[in-house]
Amino acid sequence: MVKSALVLVALGLAVSQIPAAYAEKTTGYVAGTKTSLRITEVNGKDVEVRTAKAFRVMARAAAKHGVDLKIRSGFRSFAKQAKLYKQYRKGQGNLAAPPGYSNHESGRALDLNVTNPKAFDWLQSHGATYGFHRTVPGEAWHWEYLGDEDKDAISRPDRKVKRKPKHDS
Ligand SMILES: [Zn+2]
Repeated sequence: MVKSALVLVALGLAVSQIPAAYAEKTTGYVAGTKTSLRITEVNGKDVEVRTAKAFRVMARAAAKHGVDLKIRSGFRSFAKQAKLYKQYRKGQGNLAAPPGYSNHESGRALDLNVTNPKAFDWLQSHGATYGFHRTVPGEAWHWEYLGDEDKDAISRPDRKVKRKPKHDS
């Protein structure tokens, strides 16, 4: 009796710790190496949970300035990246890193809708404050969340983050 009551309490605790937002485990890649990560949904797009959290904070701040930030592409599976890479190699798509090497597979990269120049200008001025940096020259839409590995960049938004652009898109 006491034992089953304890099990029920434990179950109750476990259930209460499930975050309200949907999140699921999946396989990502960091520099060619498999990694386990968790993804959630933002506006119907798969996004790694830490990147999603940071994006939501940034999007709320942008909205206060009348800027609507939208994700066009977030987390990508190996298969999805392989498809994009194939298209790129055929000359049919944007620059794409080989499968296993895109930061869309590590969960850090987001392609944002910057067709409205107001959105791009806002990101240039404020993105770094929220840990987001533009890392691929020539891809105004590609932003990466580096907040948790590069805290200095958050407090100093003007700081340039040096990344190898070749494998980041
Ligand atoms: Zn991208």
